Amino acid sequence: METLRQRLRSIDQKGYKAYKTIEGTYSFPLFTLAIDHVQGDPFAEPSKIRVIVPRAKTVLAAEWTDTKPRRIRCEDLLARRIHRELRQWSARARGSGKSGLVLIDAPGQKVLERTAVQVADETIAVCLSVGLPANGRRILAKEAETIFFEQIPSVIERAVYGLREEDIRAAVELADQQHAIRRYLREHGLVAFVKNGAILPRESGVSDKPLQRGAVPFQSPPELEIAIPIPHRAEPVKGMGIRKGITLIVGGGYHGKSTLLQALEHGVYDHIAGDGREFVITDSGAVKIRAEDGRSVASVDISPLIGTLPYGKETSRFSTENASGSTSQAASMIEMIEAGASVFLIDEDTSATNLLMRDARMQALVAKDAEPITPYIDKARQLFHDYGISTVLVVGGLGDYLDIADCVIKMEQYVPFDVTEEAKRIAAQMPSGRKAEGGESFGRIRERIPLAESLNSQKGKKAKAAARGRHVIQYGQTDLLLYALEQLVDDSQTRAIAAALLYMERKGWLDGKKTIRQLLDAIEEQWDRQGLGSVSFRKGHPGELARPRRFELVAALNRLRTLRCTQ
Ligand code: ADP
Ligand code: MG
Repeated sequence: METLRQRLRSIDQKGYKAYKTIEGTYSFPLFTLAIDHVQGDPFAEPSKIRVIVPRAKTVLAAEWTDTKPRRIRCEDLLARRIHRELRQWSARARGSGKSGLVLIDAPGQKVLERTAVQVADETIAVCLSVGLPANGRRILAKEAETIFFEQIPSVIERAVYGLREEDIRAAVELADQQHAIRRYLREHGLVAFVKNGAILPRESGVSDKPLQRGAVPFQSPPELEIAIPIPHRAEPVKGMGIRKGITLIVGGGYHGKSTLLQALEHGVYDHIAGDGREFVITDSGAVKIRAEDGRSVASVDISPLIGTLPYGKETSRFSTENASGSTSQAASMIEMIEAGASVFLIDEDTSATNLLMRDARMQALVAKDAEPITPYIDKARQLFHDYGISTVLVVGGLGDYLDIADCVIKMEQYVPFDVTEEAKRIAAQMPSGRKAEGGESFGRIRERIPLAESLNSQKGKKAKAAARGRHVIQYGQTDLLLYALEQLVDDSQTRAIAAALLYMERKGWLDGKKTIRQLLDAIEEQWDRQGLGSVSFRKGHPGELARPRRFELVAALNRLRTLRCTQ
């Protein structure tokens, strides 16, 4: 500790590069401080430091972290507390560039596994970013001393040592309950649960926070209501259960269909208390499938959904730099089957109509052999039968879907009704007149094997693989665009995806032998066993990472314009 003070004093007013001399590890009364990486100048990415607290001196006893969801919850709680304390200080800015900034990778409404705080058996490691203070390019050592000797100790004292058992208990019990519901869904043939009283609408289209005024709380239709027993509570939770199979969400425009579907999309993640979606839980294999014209596609066998294209273009190895609405959505479906999805979440609003549906009149006017597309209406049942993939589909206008639905939920003024029986009656009374075009089965999925050349970060001059916000990864010379990934929910997930791609490249994992599914399994196993930060090539502080699902990781790989596969 005194060494750090001396070093800082000896470099006061010197050029910024002299900060490099403070890299190292220092003992403080309350913790160990590791200065892992010092930034090159005041405007560069802030320096990376870790504060390592002995766990025995806190109330975070072993029992609070005896399962993985519990450990993640405690890490999340600490990150939030540290963020709150740091904010108390941030008003006092000083100096040039990022001078004086002390940041933690703070979580939002979701609880994700992240590197910001890592709780191990003996220690709690807190990863921070610090803008080392300067005036112009001249070191302000006094200000740096304040950060290391006042600000950080005070923040750690209050946020980590000040942690109380009741704070932990509340967070951990919610984690246990959410986990119990996830397990219940798996064991009872359900794909999703929405608790009565849940608040689904968000503050705005760009906010993940709950709508504050005028939100109509969710209330399950009696026919779909289930009760799930959960720990730490005598009463079971009650709400709407969505079963495996094909579920439609229908209703008039602006009556809350998309809002319900979006809540289900986000329910693959756990939410914090007060979010309104704490007990909106969706099978973790549920993926949103949407149209995305303009995306690239590499060697995907889309023939189950789209047959031979004009001029005899085969679709069993479909590649394009510029997909149409229907081909992009078909490719996404096949890619997600390949990756192991369990549920497709589809909204008519963001779908290619011709992929979803072809009605009797169009069948009469345009013969099947002149239409490459087999609409999803003829494939959804086979998809469930052959691959066990359920569908939850929002439809406002495509009534022919009533023929294939197991369950129909009607949204009216934000209130859901079970209209399955009525829908069946209408379907019987008013036949659609269309012919099924789907053939006998969904069709085989050919698993792709990516080639090494797919990942080439060396080509670019500048950054090799870097996330630019939530939706862009600069990979070598290519910009990888992720705007269509609605279940990518945190900038730190994007950073982790960039890190994972770079890791697979450097480790030579794309060796022309491993299938995409094997690569995803390998990354997940690595994350499970060696931690999220193990894909980072940094020493010490791994960078600000949050764990993405395999589906968002593979979606990024699939959108790489350099992706090439064997054969
Ligand atoms: P649809 O998809 O049926 O056209 P949306 O789901 O887009 O409708 O919802 C329309 C509007 O209603 C949105 O602004 C949404 O935030 C709001 N909304 C949805 N559900 C609720 C609710 N339960 N309470 C209050 N407002 C809601
Ligand atoms: Mg809508």
